[in-house]
Amino acid sequence: MGVSRTAPRRRKRRPPRVRTVLIQLDGLSALWLNRWLRERRFLPGQKPATAGSVAAGGLARLAAAGVRARSLAPVDPSVTATNLATQLTGVFPARHGILSNRFFRRGKRVNGFTEPLGAEPLWQAAPRQGLRTVTWAALGTRCDEPPSSLLRTACYAAGGRVSRPQPAMDVTLAPRGGNARLELRAGRRARGRPRITLGLRRSEKNKAGKVTLVLPAGAVLRGGAPDLGAGEGRDVLWSGGTLPDGTQAPRRLTHIVLRSFDPRPGRARFYVSGTAINLARPTAFGRTLDRAGLIRPAMADEHSFQHGRIDERLFCRTGLAELDAAVALARTLGRGDTFDLAILYVGAVDSFGHMLLAGKGRQELSSAEVARYRAALERVLREVDQRLALILDALDLKRTRVVLASDHGMVPVFHDVSLRAALFSVDRRIRVVTAAGAGFVHLPTGVDPTAVEKRLAALRVAGKSVFAKGRVVRADSFARLGLPVTAADLFVQASPGFALSHRRTKTLTAWPRNQATHGYRSELPAMHGVFLAAGPGLRAPSSARILGPLHMTQVAAAVCAAVGMQPPKHARPGPPGLWKPPPLPGPH
Ligand SMILES: [Zn+2]
Repeated sequence: MGVSRTAPRRRKRRPPRVRTVLIQLDGLSALWLNRWLRERRFLPGQKPATAGSVAAGGLARLAAAGVRARSLAPVDPSVTATNLATQLTGVFPARHGILSNRFFRRGKRVNGFTEPLGAEPLWQAAPRQGLRTVTWAALGTRCDEPPSSLLRTACYAAGGRVSRPQPAMDVTLAPRGGNARLELRAGRRARGRPRITLGLRRSEKNKAGKVTLVLPAGAVLRGGAPDLGAGEGRDVLWSGGTLPDGTQAPRRLTHIVLRSFDPRPGRARFYVSGTAINLARPTAFGRTLDRAGLIRPAMADEHSFQHGRIDERLFCRTGLAELDAAVALARTLGRGDTFDLAILYVGAVDSFGHMLLAGKGRQELSSAEVARYRAALERVLREVDQRLALILDALDLKRTRVVLASDHGMVPVFHDVSLRAALFSVDRRIRVVTAAGAGFVHLPTGVDPTAVEKRLAALRVAGKSVFAKGRVVRADSFARLGLPVTAADLFVQASPGFALSHRRTKTLTAWPRNQATHGYRSELPAMHGVFLAAGPGLRAPSSARILGPLHMTQVAAAVCAAVGMQPPKHARPGPPGLWKPPPLPGPH
C-alpha cells in the first residue's frame, strides 16, 4: 500500500479540526420548541417543567449557546421524505425529485425514502470535496432492498451510489422442544454485534399445513423473503403479535431483514441494520463503530401500538432506544478526529407525535385516553431533550458545530378520507397516490380536471369541508409550489385534521391510523420545523440569537458554511454570515 511514512507524524501536529454535525430530528414542531423555551412545556395544558430541567436539556442549551430560527418553513407537501431531501440538497422537489413519501414516477408508485435523489445531497458533496463523512440513516443512504421497506437496512453510500447491503449474519435454527432458538452469528463481513440469539415460537399450522415461526417480542423481521415456501408470506415472520397484554418490554435488538430462509435445514441469511458510513471514512473509524456494537435499533413500534398490543409507555421506551443509540454514536464520534461532517437522522419524535398527539374530541378515544396520550407525548419529548443534551456533551460544542433541523410539525387528525373513493363518481380510472394530508391525482385522457376540482370542493365529511383550508392545484401552477409540472395532473392538500388515503375501498372515511399528521399547506405555522445552530465560530451577535423564519432549502448551505465546503449545486443560500470560515482542512 502506498502509505507515506511521514503522514502520521504530520497528522499529529495538526490541531483538531472543527467538525460539523447535522442532526435531522424528524417531526419536531416549531410550535412545540417555542412553547418549551417560553412556557417550559411542549404541549399546551401540560404542567411546566422546572427552569433547571429546561436549561439542562439539549434544545435550550443549543438555543442559549447559538442561534435558533423562529421557524423553519417546509416545502410542499410538508412530509418527511420531501423535506429531508430538501434539507440535504438545498433545492426544491422539482429539482431533487422526491415529491412525497409516496408518489408516481413514470406511472409507477414509488417510495420517497428509497428513490434516488435527482440532486447532489450533502453526504455526496462532502466526500467529493475530500471531506470525511459519516451518515446515520440519512435519506438516500439506505439501501432500496427490499424496495418497499421502511427499514433502515445496512447500506454503504459509495460516491453517491448506494451499494447493496453485505450479508451480516449467518443464522442457524436449533429446534428445542416445542420452541426454537435462532442463533445469529456474525458472518465474515459482519458489522456490529457478533452474536444475537433469538428465541423463536412455533405457531399452529397455517393454511398451507406448515408450521410457521414467530420471532420473540420486539424483534423485527420483515422484508423480502424469496425462499419462503407457498403460504409462508412475509407476515409469517412478524413478531409484533407476541405482546398481547402490553406488560412485556419489547426486546428490540436491531432491525433484521430476512434475505432467504430454507425451512428444511433451518438456515437463513439476514442483513442486520447498521450505520451507513460513507466510504470516505477511514477504515479505523468503521472498526471503532463495530467495537462499540453500534447497530441502529428499530424505530418505535407503531404497528404494535396501533393494534393495541403495547401501551404508550412501552411504545415510548422502544422509540427512545433509537435516541440511546444516537447517544452511543455521538460518544464514538466525539472521541478522536475521525470526521468532518456527520449527518444523524433521528425518527423517534415523528413516531411519538403521530401516535400520541391525540386531538380533543376524537371520536374513538375517550377524553381520558386523549389526555393520557398527550401527557405521554410531553414526557417522552422531555426525555428526547435530555438525550439531546447527552449528544451535545459527547460532541463537545467547543469543537463541534451542530446544526439541528427538523422537517415538519404536525396537527391532530380526526378523519381518514379515501381520495380514491371520493373520485369514484367522477371516473373510476382516476389514479391517486397519497401521503398524510397530501396527494397527487392522475387523470386518464378525456377526464376534465374541472370535474375533479368541483367534486373535491364539494367534499364534506362530518359537516366539514375536506379541502376548504387545503388546496387543489393544477399542474400548470405546480412550479409555484416547487413541484415539477410532470408530477401529476393535480396536487391536493386537505384541510388540517383530514388524512388522505388511497385505500382500495368504496367507503369514503375511516378511522385514521395516526393521532396526528402533516403534509398540509406549508404556510401553516403548525407545519413548520425547527432550526438551531451552535458551536465554535458562530457569528451571530447575542442580539440576533433568534433568526427570522428560515426555509428548508437554506439548511444545506448553512451546514456547508459550517463545514467550509462548497454547497451542493443549485442549493439556495443559507442565512448569511452565520459562521466564521473554519480552518482550512489539511490532507488526510
Ligand atoms: Zn411523519
